[in-house]
Amino acid sequence: MAFICTVSCIQARLLHRNVGSSRCAQFLAKPDSILAVYGARVAKGSAGRTHRVASPSSSRKDGDGREVRNFILSTLPEKEWGQIDSSLEFVRLRLHQVLHETGETIKSGYFLNDGLGSVLTTEPNGKTVEVGLIGKEGFVGLPIIFGFKTSGLRVVTQADATAYRVDVATLLKILPDCPELEKQLQRFSMILGMMSTQLAACNRLHGVVERLARWLLMSQDRVGSEILPLTQEFLAQMLGTRRASVTVAAGALQDAGLIKGSRGSVNILDRKQLEKRACSCYDVIEQQKKKWQGELNAD
Ligand SMILES: [Zn+2]
Repeated sequence: MAFICTVSCIQARLLHRNVGSSRCAQFLAKPDSILAVYGARVAKGSAGRTHRVASPSSSRKDGDGREVRNFILSTLPEKEWGQIDSSLEFVRLRLHQVLHETGETIKSGYFLNDGLGSVLTTEPNGKTVEVGLIGKEGFVGLPIIFGFKTSGLRVVTQADATAYRVDVATLLKILPDCPELEKQLQRFSMILGMMSTQLAACNRLHGVVERLARWLLMSQDRVGSEILPLTQEFLAQMLGTRRASVTVAAGALQDAGLIKGSRGSVNILDRKQLEKRACSCYDVIEQQKKKWQGELNAD
């Protein structure tokens, strides 16, 4: 329930331009957790910044021989994997596909295997602002884990993606027999809540160039590629700003040789320099995950 609470607060803060701090801090658990996917696998760079280290590939295969890359699924104990395996449907998700819509009933959950999902607040006038990113470390459909039936936010794919889809009723039936799965989902809800809080502050406090750099870093972490498929119009929606502002910001990063934009995509040319141009939010999120992982390791 912590995630829901946090995101509701964030939505209010975004709309009213009143930034506060997160009140939620629970559901922390043991090592080998979801915190390790990005946060604990970052190392300090020469400038004190962190840089991503690729996650090891999973040895788990699904029934059709595909590699299971989703962190939650790939690290489940064999017994729990056996419980959920037959209920998963491998699906390909197209760019900008809406997985969950604000206020609508959640019918399926998605363990992303590749690609990127954006968590968006929506306003009655159609404007959206991104308050979270989900990649292969996570799960789309967290409200159902806490007993809710509808989505408070929109979740849309930002790149061609694949996922393991599970029917909500089936997942809820399986969950009592899968304590590790439940724990991982709870941890991910805390990570997403923490991220959302930081992004609310980011949207209020930081400039477009810094936010764009931060967004590109976070997206690259999850997509795992230097080339990100996106348009400036879509970026403007993600960053909650005007398209003209995104054009100027992207131009500044391109002039500095950090990115190269082409029709429908952005190529990251110099990640280290991009880290220097990003606002502090990228590090804040990664360091918090690292801190939580350290606390788990200490238990
Ligand atoms: Zn920021």
